[in-house]
Amino acid sequence: MTLRTRFAPSPTGFLHIGGARTALFCRLHTRRHGGVFVLRIEDTDQERSTPEAVEVILEGLRWLGLDPDEGPFFQSDNTELYRAAARRMVEEGSAYPCDCSRETLDEMREQQRLRGEKPRYDGRCRNRTTPIGDQPHVIRFKTPPAGETVWEDKIQGTILIDNAELDDLILIRSDGSPTYNLAVAVDDHHMGITLVLRGEDHVSNTPRQIHIFRALGWEVPEYAHMPLLHGADGAKLSKRHGAVSVLQYREEGFLPTALNNYLARLGWSHGEQEIFTMVELETWFDIGDLGRSAAIFDQNKLLWINGHHIRAAAPPQLVPELARQLGRLGIDPVPAPERLAAILPEFQPRAATMVEMAQKCRFLFVDSVLPYEEKAARKHLTAAALDPLLGLARHLEGVADWSPPSIEAAFQQTLQAFGLAMGQLAQPLRVVLTGSAASPGIIETLHMLGREQTLRRLHEGAEYLQQRH
Ligand code: GLU
Repeated sequence: MTLRTRFAPSPTGFLHIGGARTALFCRLHTRRHGGVFVLRIEDTDQERSTPEAVEVILEGLRWLGLDPDEGPFFQSDNTELYRAAARRMVEEGSAYPCDCSRETLDEMREQQRLRGEKPRYDGRCRNRTTPIGDQPHVIRFKTPPAGETVWEDKIQGTILIDNAELDDLILIRSDGSPTYNLAVAVDDHHMGITLVLRGEDHVSNTPRQIHIFRALGWEVPEYAHMPLLHGADGAKLSKRHGAVSVLQYREEGFLPTALNNYLARLGWSHGEQEIFTMVELETWFDIGDLGRSAAIFDQNKLLWINGHHIRAAAPPQLVPELARQLGRLGIDPVPAPERLAAILPEFQPRAATMVEMAQKCRFLFVDSVLPYEEKAARKHLTAAALDPLLGLARHLEGVADWSPPSIEAAFQQTLQAFGLAMGQLAQPLRVVLTGSAASPGIIETLHMLGREQTLRRLHEGAEYLQQRH
């Protein structure tokens, strides 16, 4: 039997980091074992589901490279399938119509509360003899009143739930819409899902879904419930902990490969290795190796991993993210991909995020870097810098081919002519070329900037110095 997993998000918000981790684990596990990864959009809650949220989920998965092998399928397309399953269960006696009114149910719960019992539906419509006819009603499942439901969870181990804990859940609401547990069980069956991999928060739903499978005579899939993500403070990961939407990480300059690497390492390990490519993860990842304790989301570690992936990437791979971040900094038009690929190697060792990288290479794509960073200008643009900068401009004007060796020669000639040490020229030069005192190697900086911009900025810097001193 082919392994088939599914990721089943509800489109009621963004794709959050926990959901991305579920999708990643489904993807990796099926790659490792040669299975099929299915995407199912659980949009039965018509009021809370939006097309925008669907788009955001799809975009997040696409960005992470977690496109499904099949899907997206939409539960809203399957309503008839759910109703038919419920009808069959009623016919076969494992479900029943119930027309208890809201008042009756409120009254029932109040009585139970007064008796100190857990509020639950008491099953009073189970054995009704009078037909319900046309009046509004729901369909409820006949939960086995006694016994236990047990499954071997692939992550949690044996889980045993007392059936007496569960009441007769609603399968079809009075408006004809299916509930979550019915829709999931019916879809998991019809989509041939063999392994349900999802968050631990769904453990309480699993016995209900197993009951539905059994009532319909279907083979129950395997289950694996992943520990949830927690923030550094130990609480379940939420908006309070900062960025939780996957696309927010993209905005903040993280690479999809780094996020996948980091998410995979939350609860899974492979020896001492920390940095993984997607191919390595697809080769080694197995949900059987996942731990049971909650994983703590650590932003600093993610940052560290991101830096590694930035350094290790082939420049063309980083072009789309760099272009995106430059656009966000107002660079318009964004430089051509070839130009970005050519300058990338100079900046890869110098940035932990693509935002940082865009800020560092921004000087290459603007017309002027004025005003200079105040501290850098105060320190390096002293009166003594004027003549050497003008001298360098003269030497550079004579450079024929703007190759690094020719630029270097002009630079050395200027040092000699003015009797300066390297830094005495390089630092003021950096400030007038980039606006700040930090940049890649100075020769490389001139080379990347090009003759025209370099000379223009040198003269701009000289003017600034003349006015100042
Ligand atoms: N739609 C559910 C959710 O977003 C997941 C259901 C499942 O995986 O069974 O939490």
